[in-house]
Amino acid sequence: MTTTTTITPEQLDKTHRIEHNGEIFYLVENSRGDVDDEGNVIEYRVSYDKAHKCLTCTCPAGNPPSDEHGYLKYSPRTCWHLRVVIAHVQSLRQENKARAQIDLYVQQGFDLETSMRVAYAKPTEYSEAQVKRAQSANQARPFSILR
Ligand SMILES: [Zn+2]
Repeated sequence: MTTTTTITPEQLDKTHRIEHNGEIFYLVENSRGDVDDEGNVIEYRVSYDKAHKCLTCTCPAGNPPSDEHGYLKYSPRTCWHLRVVIAHVQSLRQENKARAQIDLYVQQGFDLETSMRVAYAKPTEYSEAQVKRAQSANQARPFSILR
Protein backbone atom coordinates (compact mmCIF):
# COMPACT_ATOMS: atom_id res chain seq x y z
CA MET A 1 0.00 0.00 0.00
CA THR A 2 1.31 3.42 -0.90
CA THR A 3 0.94 6.23 1.54
CA THR A 4 0.68 9.66 -0.02
CA THR A 5 0.19 12.91 1.77
CA THR A 6 -1.04 14.81 -1.26
CA ILE A 7 -4.29 13.97 -2.97
CA THR A 8 -4.30 13.30 -6.70
CA PRO A 9 -7.08 14.12 -9.19
CA GLU A 10 -7.52 10.35 -9.69
CA GLN A 11 -8.23 9.95 -5.98
CA LEU A 12 -10.74 12.79 -6.08
CA ASP A 13 -12.44 11.06 -9.02
CA LYS A 14 -12.99 8.01 -6.83
CA THR A 15 -14.66 10.11 -4.15
CA HIS A 16 -18.42 10.45 -4.19
CA ARG A 17 -20.41 12.71 -1.94
CA ILE A 18 -23.77 11.22 -1.03
CA GLU A 19 -26.68 13.12 0.42
CA HIS A 20 -29.39 10.75 1.48
CA ASN A 21 -32.34 11.46 3.80
CA GLY A 22 -30.58 14.51 5.21
CA GLU A 23 -27.45 12.53 5.93
CA ILE A 24 -24.19 13.34 4.19
CA PHE A 25 -21.43 10.83 3.77
CA TYR A 26 -18.84 9.84 1.23
CA LEU A 27 -18.21 6.66 -0.68
CA VAL A 28 -14.61 6.25 -1.79
CA GLU A 29 -13.64 3.56 -4.27
CA ASN A 30 -10.70 1.38 -3.30
CA SER A 31 -7.47 2.47 -4.96
CA ARG A 32 -6.76 -0.84 -6.72
CA GLY A 33 -10.16 -1.04 -8.35
CA ASP A 34 -10.98 -4.31 -6.57
CA VAL A 35 -14.47 -5.66 -7.05
CA ASP A 36 -16.71 -7.69 -4.75
CA ASP A 37 -18.31 -11.08 -5.51
CA GLU A 38 -21.02 -9.39 -7.56
CA GLY A 39 -18.58 -7.39 -9.64
CA ASN A 40 -19.22 -4.06 -7.93
CA VAL A 41 -16.25 -1.83 -7.18
CA ILE A 42 -15.55 -2.02 -3.46
CA GLU A 43 -16.25 1.32 -1.82
CA TYR A 44 -15.55 2.49 1.69
CA ARG A 45 -17.89 4.72 3.56
CA VAL A 46 -16.43 7.82 5.19
CA SER A 47 -18.73 9.66 7.55
CA TYR A 48 -18.53 12.14 10.35
CA ASP A 49 -18.75 10.68 13.83
CA LYS A 50 -20.59 13.37 15.79
CA ALA A 51 -19.93 11.75 19.17
CA HIS A 52 -16.18 11.62 18.67
CA LYS A 53 -15.97 14.62 16.33
CA CYS A 54 -13.89 12.81 13.78
CA LEU A 55 -14.17 11.18 10.40
CA THR A 56 -14.42 7.42 10.29
CA CYS A 57 -13.81 5.05 7.42
CA THR A 58 -15.02 1.50 6.98
CA CYS A 59 -11.88 0.30 5.18
CA PRO A 60 -9.60 -2.36 6.74
CA ALA A 61 -6.89 0.17 7.68
CA GLY A 62 -9.07 1.75 10.33
CA ASN A 63 -10.90 -1.43 11.29
CA PRO A 64 -8.40 -4.21 11.95
CA PRO A 65 -9.76 -7.69 12.57
CA SER A 66 -9.15 -9.23 16.00
CA ASP A 67 -7.53 -12.54 16.75
CA GLU A 68 -9.02 -15.37 18.82
CA HIS A 69 -8.13 -13.54 22.07
CA GLY A 70 -9.87 -10.38 20.99
CA TYR A 71 -6.67 -8.48 20.31
CA LEU A 72 -6.54 -6.34 17.23
CA LYS A 73 -4.25 -7.89 14.65
CA TYR A 74 -2.73 -4.48 13.87
CA SER A 75 -3.27 -0.99 15.15
CA PRO A 76 -5.85 1.11 13.33
CA ARG A 77 -4.28 3.44 10.81
CA THR A 78 -5.57 6.48 9.05
CA CYS A 79 -6.11 6.01 5.35
CA TRP A 80 -6.13 8.13 2.21
CA HIS A 81 -9.94 7.88 2.13
CA LEU A 82 -10.09 10.27 5.07
CA ARG A 83 -7.59 12.66 3.49
CA VAL A 84 -9.38 12.72 0.14
CA VAL A 85 -12.69 13.47 1.83
CA ILE A 86 -11.13 16.38 3.72
CA ALA A 87 -9.67 17.67 0.44
CA HIS A 88 -13.10 17.31 -1.21
CA VAL A 89 -14.86 19.20 1.57
CA GLN A 90 -12.30 22.01 1.35
CA SER A 91 -12.66 22.34 -2.42
CA LEU A 92 -16.43 22.36 -2.01
CA ARG A 93 -16.17 25.20 0.50
CA GLN A 94 -14.02 27.19 -1.93
CA GLU A 95 -16.52 26.47 -4.70
CA ASN A 96 -19.43 27.63 -2.54
CA LYS A 97 -17.53 30.76 -1.62
CA ALA A 98 -16.87 31.52 -5.29
CA ARG A 99 -20.53 30.92 -6.14
CA ALA A 100 -21.69 33.24 -3.37
CA GLN A 101 -19.31 35.87 -4.71
CA ILE A 102 -20.65 35.45 -8.26
CA ASP A 103 -24.23 35.88 -7.00
CA LEU A 104 -23.19 39.05 -5.25
CA TYR A 105 -21.53 40.51 -8.36
CA VAL A 106 -24.52 39.62 -10.52
CA GLN A 107 -26.83 41.30 -8.01
CA GLN A 108 -24.64 44.37 -8.28
CA GLY A 109 -25.25 44.42 -12.01
CA PHE A 110 -22.17 42.71 -13.45
CA ASP A 111 -22.74 40.19 -16.22
CA LEU A 112 -22.26 36.52 -15.38
CA GLU A 113 -19.07 36.08 -17.40
CA THR A 114 -17.29 38.98 -15.72
CA SER A 115 -18.53 37.88 -12.30
CA MET A 116 -17.20 34.36 -12.82
CA ARG A 117 -13.87 35.59 -14.09
CA VAL A 118 -13.40 37.80 -11.05
CA ALA A 119 -14.63 35.18 -8.56
CA TYR A 120 -12.33 32.47 -9.87
CA ALA A 121 -9.36 34.74 -10.49
CA LYS A 122 -6.27 33.83 -8.56
CA PRO A 123 -4.81 36.62 -6.49
CA THR A 124 -2.15 38.39 -8.51
CA GLU A 125 1.26 38.44 -6.97
CA TYR A 126 3.51 41.30 -7.87
CA SER A 127 7.22 41.22 -7.37
CA GLU A 128 8.75 43.92 -5.22
CA ALA A 129 10.38 45.39 -8.31
CA GLN A 130 7.02 45.69 -10.06
CA VAL A 131 5.49 47.41 -7.05
CA LYS A 132 8.40 49.87 -6.84
CA ARG A 133 8.14 50.64 -10.55
CA ALA A 134 4.40 51.26 -10.24
CA GLN A 135 4.92 53.49 -7.20
CA SER A 136 7.60 55.60 -8.88
CA ALA A 137 5.46 55.87 -12.01
CA ASN A 138 2.61 57.13 -9.85
CA GLN A 139 4.84 59.70 -8.20
CA ALA A 140 6.06 60.95 -11.55
CA ARG A 141 2.54 61.24 -13.02
CA PRO A 142 0.22 61.27 -10.02
CA PHE A 143 -2.99 61.97 -11.93
CA SER A 144 -2.23 60.29 -15.21
CA ILE A 145 -4.78 57.60 -14.49
CA LEU A 146 -7.54 60.22 -14.38
CA ARG A 147 -6.80 61.70 -17.74
ZN1 LIG B 1 -10.26 4.15 4.62
